[in-house]
Order: sequence, then C-alpha cells, then structure tokens
Amino acid sequence: KDEVNIISGALELRKKTVGEVMTRIEDVYMLSYDTILDFETVSEIMKSGYSRIPVYEGTRRNIVSLLYIKDLALIDPDDNTPLKTLSQYYQNSCYYVFEDTTLDVVFKQFKDGCKGHMAFVHRVNNEGEGDPFYETVGIVTLEDVIEELIQAEIMDE
Ligand code: ADP
Repeated sequence: KDEVNIISGALELRKKTVGEVMTRIEDVYMLSYDTILDFETVSEIMKSGYSRIPVYEGTRRNIVSLLYIKDLALIDPDDNTPLKTLSQYYQNSCYYVFEDTTLDVVFKQFKDGCKGHMAFVHRVNNEGEGDPFYETVGIVTLEDVIEELIQAEIMDE
C-alpha cells in the first residue's frame, strides 16, 4: 500500500505546484534585518524550533537573507550582535521559484544542490502604478515536497 502511495505521489509531483504546498508568508517565522541578537531574541529564535529563518527588510514580502540556526553557534548574546552583521558574514544563498513551478522541478533542484533545501516562492507584482517588482509569497522545503511524495504528514517534534 505504501508503495502504491509513493508511486501515485511521484506521478502527482508533475501536476502539483509549489503555490499549492508552500507555507504562506503570513505563517512563516521570520526576523527583520535590523534585529539585534540579544538574549531575549536568541531565546525566542531557539523556542521557535525552526532550523532556517528568512530575514526581511521593510516588508515581510521582501526577503533579503536566510539565517541558519547553526550560524548562531558563535554568538554571545551579551555582545548584542546585529543580525545584519551575521547575515553579511555568512551570506547564505537564497533560492527562488515561481508559484507555478511544479514539484518535480523543485525536487530536482533540492537534489541537485539547492543548499539548505528551502526555496522562496515569489511572484511578480504588477498591480498599482509603479514598476512591477518581485514579492515573496511563501516558502517551500524538501519536507513539503516529500510529504506530497509519500502522501502523508511527516511528524516533526
Ligand atoms: P525545520 O528543519 O525548521 O523543521 P522543515 O524543512 O523540516 O523545517 O519543514 C517543516 C515545515 O515547516 C515545512 O512545512 C516548512 O514549510 C515549514 N517551515 C520551515 N521553516 C519555517 C519557518 N521559518 N517558519 C514557518 N514555517 C517553516
């Protein structure tokens, strides 16, 4: 039965899009680029339980960096290090995919070395008067894709 599920899940990957399985930006735990990594903030980050945290500047739809929890290993909360300093030091790459990208395509990208196994889902916003611009509408991780593949939720802690 599991095998049948996986085979049908694998076939579905070509039909489903990242827009359908992503975690919406409103629900993403993120940090502002001007955050100061003091004791309170570092504790809150640890409590969130996420291993990767998008960093935004200005609005939540404008992602500028990605923080890995492991980047905090050398941080002393008493130093009140700006998150900006850490982001500039690590310069972790951010990957972007469009909402209508199908899951087989992102799965292949994750396999072929999209480091961190997280991609930002973006779209072109051409509403309003100004020039069109990219906005991030969600995130998708390898776990989201594997859940579709096995057609079951993965129980995380
Ligand atoms: P983690 O390693 O942080 O547990 P996973 O890649 O295992 O993250 O993803 C588990 C689920 O959590 C996925 O649905 C993913 O979209 C979501 N997720 C990952 N990072 C975040 C975050 N910073 N805020 C909200 N949801 C997240």
